[in-house]
Amino acid sequence: MASASERPPTQLPASDDAPSAFHVMAKPSGSICNIDCTYCFFLSKEALYPNDKHRMSDATLEAYIRQLLESHRTPQVTLAWQGGEPTLMKLDFFRRAVELTEKHRRSGQTVQHAFQTNGMLLDHDWCAFFKQHNFLIGLSVDGPRELHDTYRRDRRQQGTFDRVMQGWRHLRRHGVEFNILCTVNAANQDHGRAVYRFFRDELGAQWIQFIPIVERASAATLEVANQGWSDSPGRKRLLYTQTGNLVTERSVGSAQYGRFLVDIFEEWVRRDVGSIYVQLFDVTLEADFGRHLLCIHAPTCGQGMALEYNGDLYACDHFVEPGYRLGNIHATPMSKLAGSPQQRKFGQDKHDALTTQCRKCEVRSVCNGGCPKDRFALSRDGEPGHNYLCSGLELFFRHTRPAMRTMAQLLQHNRAPADVMALTAAQDARGGPYRPCPCGSGRKFRFCHGDKAPSSPFSGVRPEAAEPRQGRAIPAGTQEASD
Ligand code: SF4
Ligand code: SF4
Repeated sequence: MASASERPPTQLPASDDAPSAFHVMAKPSGSICNIDCTYCFFLSKEALYPNDKHRMSDATLEAYIRQLLESHRTPQVTLAWQGGEPTLMKLDFFRRAVELTEKHRRSGQTVQHAFQTNGMLLDHDWCAFFKQHNFLIGLSVDGPRELHDTYRRDRRQQGTFDRVMQGWRHLRRHGVEFNILCTVNAANQDHGRAVYRFFRDELGAQWIQFIPIVERASAATLEVANQGWSDSPGRKRLLYTQTGNLVTERSVGSAQYGRFLVDIFEEWVRRDVGSIYVQLFDVTLEADFGRHLLCIHAPTCGQGMALEYNGDLYACDHFVEPGYRLGNIHATPMSKLAGSPQQRKFGQDKHDALTTQCRKCEVRSVCNGGCPKDRFALSRDGEPGHNYLCSGLELFFRHTRPAMRTMAQLLQHNRAPADVMALTAAQDARGGPYRPCPCGSGRKFRFCHGDKAPSSPFSGVRPEAAEPRQGRAIPAGTQEASD
């Protein structure tokens, strides 16, 4: 990239109410996608803009980049591209985005492009471009073929696994940095370790993010919601909104979500600390130091907005619906919308609307009640507005607490958190191979997370020769990418 130092620094008219930094997920092709994942309720957002092309114009692209860079008073800015499927915009659109970034980047500002994709269209040209401009790619994969293809299908209802693996091979060949973004859903929820090992051992992933699928519905909408969100002839289509206190049959169970994470954690804490980065594990450890890397488990939120292709800005990627539209960046500067009373209230409500159970919860400092979109269940006392995922979150945060505390103490003594693996091995040796496995499965340790751990029942891929992995941290976003 050309140096920005040739240009005079632009000082910014940040309004007093504007946050010094915030995160925006731009959807240059709106919610339009080239595949048809059954659980993807984002597909239904097409109905917000009927009869339109859903393609970001050059004027909106420039307004977005200029305003985002101008409104940041921090030296690092992330430009996050998402969808729908952003590769539908073609490469020239992103060449132009890079050009505009250089044009508007202020002296001393560094910009990271983050790009979430289903991988279907990735080829030599895309990956050479990503490598050249240091894009960080999020690749959506739900596990081995049998699990991935359950819901990640194309319009002809064919599984997409082989085509995604083709894209992954291009990423590897070009040495592009990638994170795996995996949804946790009804199909893969009981296979945490097999999914994790597939990413680690077969895809060579170093950074992994898990996103629970929670699709809300009401008694009136459940039947239609269970059929999916795409626009199929003869099928009634709903606009997904965060309403209703039921979930579709594809949604992850609450306890299953917790067990899925615990299953992976027990593997990770024995062999992968310091070499594989699972976003929620990092988030949990950092919370011990009062740092909240992810909006979902921060006390408040509201600094992770979504930008539609036409410049409409919404409170959050999960709330792209009429009541949460903040305005349009062509009419009102983005910084003003980000600091608006409406958006501040949205973020503060995350804290203020906690149930009594959450307020009294032992793991509240790391959980913080989870995402407001998932708060549609009853608490143990019958209070509404409690997190549907609570039992799983509580299980995970309680279970990992001792090891997380050990890692925090190691860090405080300038030691590597990876030393926890030796301590865990010593503990395992003391407990012996035939004690109950600490993951809570009910099986003997040796045959669960011990040395006779079962191998994956699923098929794999044959990785071709690829560039070696290089170290770079997942940028600390305020908003996880959607699927
Ligand atoms: S994902 Fe949830 S926690 Fe994060 S900004 Fe949106 S509503 Fe808030
Ligand atoms: S674990 Fe449950 S009760 Fe505790 S803070 Fe999280 S959602 Fe609330």
